[in-house]
Amino acid sequence: MILDVAARSFKSAKVLIPVEQLIGNCAGSRLPEVAPGQLTPAAAAAAVEACPTSALQLEEAACGAQLVLDYGECIGCGACAEASPLAFAPARLLPQFGVSRSGLVRRWNLATGAELPADDPVTVGIGNEILALMGRALNIREVDAGSCNGCEGEIVALNGPHYDLERFGIHFVASPKHADMLLVTGPVTRNMTEALRRTYEATPSPKLVVAVGACGCSGGLFHGSYAVTGGVDAVIPVDGFVPGCPPTPAMLLTGILRVIGSPAARRL
Ligand code: SF4
Ligand code: SF4
Repeated sequence: MILDVAARSFKSAKVLIPVEQLIGNCAGSRLPEVAPGQLTPAAAAAAVEACPTSALQLEEAACGAQLVLDYGECIGCGACAEASPLAFAPARLLPQFGVSRSGLVRRWNLATGAELPADDPVTVGIGNEILALMGRALNIREVDAGSCNGCEGEIVALNGPHYDLERFGIHFVASPKHADMLLVTGPVTRNMTEALRRTYEATPSPKLVVAVGACGCSGGLFHGSYAVTGGVDAVIPVDGFVPGCPPTPAMLLTGILRVIGSPAARRL
């Protein structure tokens, strides 16, 4: 019996996905990308009208009207691509994972269709300090601060044979006292606010915090509800944000590696 299982596993195809195929890969998340040259004021207005959150907005600036896309508020519903299929399409590769909150925001000039430079594209935070101390080994404590568990499903997949987070020396631990990084999901419900604050205090320094999902970045669909604080950075300092509802394992991996300053993530 056990020999049959061993024989089958030797014969089965390799399932581990190479890291080069994972970094920045957001296929399946339905986060939108704007098609260069296809963005017109009418297409932008239709997409903004269709967007169920404030992820897409029109703004007036000194250089003219702008379309603002905040991935931190995007739930990947695909409504913008349905409303303006030429100008919007699901993205397959993005660098906005593990960046600062303002790094999740992109802008386009509606007169020219050209993208404007981001305010703050990448932050590495104190990741280099942890790298110097520990090489690439990293212990993560996952904190569910009111998630629907969609994000947890993707985090669990990170430990499976396809993504194999442990190949990077990254492990999940049961106590914040053993953690270098907190991976926080959910819009931080009022009931979880104090628990999250205490978990942060119980984590030894130097420590990193990654806010996961639209909920962790901004409160997501629950933004503005009386029952949530609305984003992890409203309660504790955050070193990097990973948008998506939920983010795929590849997006989570990219965000974690970027925040710890991995050379693989720096190639983005
Ligand atoms: S995919 Fe994101 S940006 Fe597009 S309509 Fe949905 S929430 Fe808005
Ligand atoms: S971001 Fe989406 S999947 Fe993640 S906890 Fe919030 S609602 Fe659920």
